Amino acid sequence: MKFECRMKIRTISRVIQGRNRSPSIQLHSYRVLAQLHSVPKRPSFGIAFDIDGVILRGRTPIGDSPKALRRLYDDSGSLKIPYLFLTNGGGIPESRRASELSQLLGVIIAPVQVVQGHSPFKNLLNRFENELVVATGKGEPAVVMSEYGFKKAVSLDEYASYFNSIDPLSPYKTWTTKQPCDEHTSSIASVPRFDVTSERVKAAFVVSDPVDWGRDIQVLCDILRSGGLPGEKSQHQPHMYFAADDLEYQAAFPSERLGMGAFRIALESIFNRIHHRPLEYTSFGKPNPSVFENAESILKQLQLPTSDGDLNEDYKDMKSHHFETLYMIGDNPSVDVKGARQAGHPWFSILTRTGVFRGKENHTDYPADHVVDTVEEAMEYILQREGYA
Ligand SMILES: [Mg+2]
Repeated sequence: MKFECRMKIRTISRVIQGRNRSPSIQLHSYRVLAQLHSVPKRPSFGIAFDIDGVILRGRTPIGDSPKALRRLYDDSGSLKIPYLFLTNGGGIPESRRASELSQLLGVIIAPVQVVQGHSPFKNLLNRFENELVVATGKGEPAVVMSEYGFKKAVSLDEYASYFNSIDPLSPYKTWTTKQPCDEHTSSIASVPRFDVTSERVKAAFVVSDPVDWGRDIQVLCDILRSGGLPGEKSQHQPHMYFAADDLEYQAAFPSERLGMGAFRIALESIFNRIHHRPLEYTSFGKPNPSVFENAESILKQLQLPTSDGDLNEDYKDMKSHHFETLYMIGDNPSVDVKGARQAGHPWFSILTRTGVFRGKENHTDYPADHVVDTVEEAMEYILQREGYA
């Protein structure tokens, strides 16, 4: 299903006179004028929503989260306030996740509004575009990497299938690791697309939560300690990237589930016992400050009008103005709140009690700027605070 996204942030039609005013006076004048003439004002704030444990539990909306999101659109369905989803989850391309979220939540969500744990992997394209890389995790990790432009991305499922007996326990696994929608893999299962028996893997990517931890730890250890070619010997460890480092996250089950950070600990602990040099790796995702910087620049894009046709000069001057507040709404103190706190101004953290965090008071180690029960309450708080309610 394709969505045509019209994300118009309404622009002012009034001309503000006086070119020599300072930017702050201009901004103030603009606000006053906007209020006086009831002209829709350009928001000086944006919102980043965590998904799991805030908006959705599994695939089910939490409370009336769709209603909270609808408040960010005007009556015609155009985006009124810039917002995006900032999740450590993933496993499918951003475009597909946007369509899926649009269907589940009943609002139009563009791919640019979906930042997943693995989204920063696209920044590594220059380095590995034509190199053999393996990708693992639930969903379609190799498809995600291919969409980013990696030309020789192979899923760990496929890669392992080319090495006889690499997983000695596979005959005992009555379930399959083949994923229902991974048509490409099933059609070429016995014919390697690349010469995996002689070409070394240059990097391994954990795109989303691994499905078969035992097999993945075994094969990743093989790749990492052999210099990218299982069975060979080499000192050089290929690069290892994790999309996120969440120890736990809130899914459909009542208590938290082990996340990618738990998998990383398992892999690292084992690797460091069987190899003479400790595992070298890079983790992305929240609470990494770069994730928040990236979110801010995307929100700025969403804040800009779609065309310059209805802009006057003064308004153009204001294009460069920064957000006064960026709200991070999350359920995980050590991921969402810690990240927003580390990112600093203009980030403002709001902690919900719908997921990992259930405390009565604020969190002790990573206290949020504000604590609420639900995302609807968070939305009410923000809109009141910003004079939009
Ligand atoms: Mg969460």
